[in-house]
Amino acid sequence: MIPHSKPTLGIEESKAIIKVLSSGHINQGEQVKEFEQLFARFLGLNSAVAVNSGTSALHLALYALGIGKGDEVIIPSFVCTALLNAINYLGAKPVIADINAYDYNISFSDVKKRITKRTKAIIVPHIFGRPSYEFHRFLELEVPIIEDCAQSIGAKYEGANLGTLGDIGIYSFYATKVFTTGEGGMVVSKSKDLVNRIDDLREYDNKHDYEIRFNYKMSDLQAAIGLEQLRKLPEFICKRKDVAEKYNIAFNKLPFNFPQVFSHIEPIWYRYIVLYERVAELIRFFHEKNIFVSRPIFKPLHRYLYFSNEDYPVTEKVFKQLLSFPIYPSLKTSDREKIIGRTIQFFNK
Ligand SMILES: *Cc1c(COP(=O)(O)O)cnc(C)c1O
Repeated sequence: MIPHSKPTLGIEESKAIIKVLSSGHINQGEQVKEFEQLFARFLGLNSAVAVNSGTSALHLALYALGIGKGDEVIIPSFVCTALLNAINYLGAKPVIADINAYDYNISFSDVKKRITKRTKAIIVPHIFGRPSYEFHRFLELEVPIIEDCAQSIGAKYEGANLGTLGDIGIYSFYATKVFTTGEGGMVVSKSKDLVNRIDDLREYDNKHDYEIRFNYKMSDLQAAIGLEQLRKLPEFICKRKDVAEKYNIAFNKLPFNFPQVFSHIEPIWYRYIVLYERVAELIRFFHEKNIFVSRPIFKPLHRYLYFSNEDYPVTEKVFKQLLSFPIYPSLKTSDREKIIGRTIQFFNK
């Protein structure tokens, strides 16, 4: 069986876990602090706040921006429901935008049409490891921008690290993500005030005042894994790129369409995606051979909300045709070649 995604864990993570276990201190402590510092340094920032999931990171980001009842937050349709949940936790109104046809990220021109006086934030997810190619245009809107980098840590926009360009950046370390702590997340910002506010909100105990706070802490066990994973991140990114290059060469002449290449962005190949009209047929062909090629998004948000499909033409087209091939650092060369061989076989049969 070749799974669609798989974490890449080694002896270093096992050793780190045992060390923390034997220390007797497994809740948020020194390991979390060290993980936050290494993470911030990786991005070229001063600080970062670790939390227990990407969803919690989004929730705290919106909360710290003061978003609440009646406020509108714009997000794309072609993304997981975590974004919708974070907005609904606050009683705010999710406004769903279409995506663009070039990198499948949130469409700037569609966002422009949906902005109102009540728009209090825009969440721009850099989906599938590909930075939003038109990101600078969002920064000119004078609305707070949250960069959702859950799928794109290490990717770059005009040479800058994703997550450092908007008002707040969030990350996820769920098991299928670029690297993992099992469950986990991170929030970053260049604003010291926002970082301090989010740091204060993630835990409730030993405070001088009372206000609603959360229990969104990461444990030292998770942070110990995160530290090892983060140290391996440059190697992970290289390995993903290597698989992508092999796929690019092998799939070049097949009837697939690919996301557009831009010179100002550097993707990290979190997903290897292609557009193809007979998606269901190809997925079935692979499943019969125990290879899990899949649709990368379960269902677009506008469909969950019963909004008209005609209002989301690009999301609809991409949802129907997008296909994601297994790509991860631990993908064996023999499995990669099997996937390539089967793909060619599909078109020759
Ligand atoms: C995974 C993901 C999230 C949510 O992260 P969790 O850690 O699963 O809560 C948010 N946004 C995007 C784009 C994601 O891929």
